[in-house]
Amino acid sequence: MINRSLKTLSQMLAEKQISSVELTQTFLNRIDALNPIINAYIALDKEKTLAQAKAADARIAAGNAEPLTGIPIAQKDIFCAKGWQTTCGSKMLANFIAPYDAHVITQFDAVGAVNLGKTNMDEFAMGSSNETSYFGGVKNPWDFTRVPGGSSGGSAAAVAARLCAAATGTDTGGSIRQPASLCGFTGLKPTYGVVSRYGMIAFASSLDQAGPMAKSAEDCALMMNVMAGFDARDSTSLNREKEDYARNLNKPLQGLKIGLPKEFFAEGLDAGVAAVIETAIAEYKKLGAEIVEISLPNTGLSIPVYYVLAPAEASSNLSRYDGVRYGHRAEQYTDLMDMYCKSRAEGFGAEVKRRILIGTYVLSAGYYDAYYLKAQQIRRLIVQDFVEAFKQCDVIMGPAAPSTAFKAGEKVDDPVAMYLQDIYTISTNLAGLPGMSVPAGFSTGGDGKALPVGLQIIGNYFDEARMLNVAHQYQQVTDWHTRMPDLAAEGLA
Ligand code: GLN
Repeated sequence: MINRSLKTLSQMLAEKQISSVELTQTFLNRIDALNPIINAYIALDKEKTLAQAKAADARIAAGNAEPLTGIPIAQKDIFCAKGWQTTCGSKMLANFIAPYDAHVITQFDAVGAVNLGKTNMDEFAMGSSNETSYFGGVKNPWDFTRVPGGSSGGSAAAVAARLCAAATGTDTGGSIRQPASLCGFTGLKPTYGVVSRYGMIAFASSLDQAGPMAKSAEDCALMMNVMAGFDARDSTSLNREKEDYARNLNKPLQGLKIGLPKEFFAEGLDAGVAAVIETAIAEYKKLGAEIVEISLPNTGLSIPVYYVLAPAEASSNLSRYDGVRYGHRAEQYTDLMDMYCKSRAEGFGAEVKRRILIGTYVLSAGYYDAYYLKAQQIRRLIVQDFVEAFKQCDVIMGPAAPSTAFKAGEKVDDPVAMYLQDIYTISTNLAGLPGMSVPAGFSTGGDGKALPVGLQIIGNYFDEARMLNVAHQYQQVTDWHTRMPDLAAEGLA
């Protein structure tokens, strides 16, 4: 049951082979057994969850079900959900109960999907290993000594360990694709503006974008059909016609032009990961695709550019946490300024403080031109690289992450090494382009454990339906996306 596709689950619900309450209970039981170890969920509310499942069953019985009616979904704890604890992985919001729903939550509610719970994440989505969460790290279901990736680490582990049918994530610099690669499932970051950011706690507003994290491209398409769409409450939401993201899944790939950026296969890429990506590309050639070598000459600047712009935006976004209206407030203080300082000092973790410091610095008078403005100019050059590249190819492929899942603790004291995890994903956020990670095989590390590797597919603006087609065709001839970690071997499930 837990390994079934969304389409199959939907059919089983429609044919009354199972009820949403039974399906939801199956996942809740699994969460009870595994979550104490994996720590994927940080808020559960079984009563609310089962009430939604019951309502879904009634809707199915009444004959007005949608494809995801009754399907249990895990929600990243960055989305405000009315009546739910919504923490963004931070002590600052540890006791915040959201008074309203994010657009994404509203969309899932509207189709009668079931909210299984809120998933763990790096604090304010800042991180690549889930180790900056106030609620502790998340274990990678493929190897408990390793990280699941970040910042959507809880959603990633929940999908990989089958603690949900699918999950939501957000991706500011790679937080859907990098954990998808490290945990072996399919994740999509849509074109900027396709999914509304309303009620999604802000990190870097010009980069943040929500997307699906699921077992397959087909599942991601069904999730996108719910998540995407215009919302007037987000001024960057794009007013485009509704589209069916599953419409192109079955198109043959004959003649598809795949661009391979030479910069993505240079120094810094793990040899085992490179071998998996090469095998995947060979598979695409068999499917009729043509390979074109391309260049993204400014891509090497994407990490430094991001670590000027994202902290700048974060320092501004996070200034709202002042201990006055909501969020953590220090218990003891002498005056207003002292209250601000102590509340923020106590409420934010070290990585968040580092970003606020960097962001405030690069925006300050005297440094703005040298850092912030310069980074904005280079961002434009990075966009231009992609514009040129897409004149030569339909999609771009490469690795999603430079290595397989690393050990917990391995990079926590070395922020630059941690930041380099997003070397292949960040440029697409800077350009606002859509990107995916698709399971493409395994690489065996020094200790003999086989760990998942993700193939990244980058598309042109609004080309999600084509990317999903490209991923789906690959998933018709490979079975990497059906693999799941053997938790029974750990004596767990
Ligand atoms: N790892 C990157 C960071 O720490 C990206 C995070 C994200 O996409 N939310 O900022």
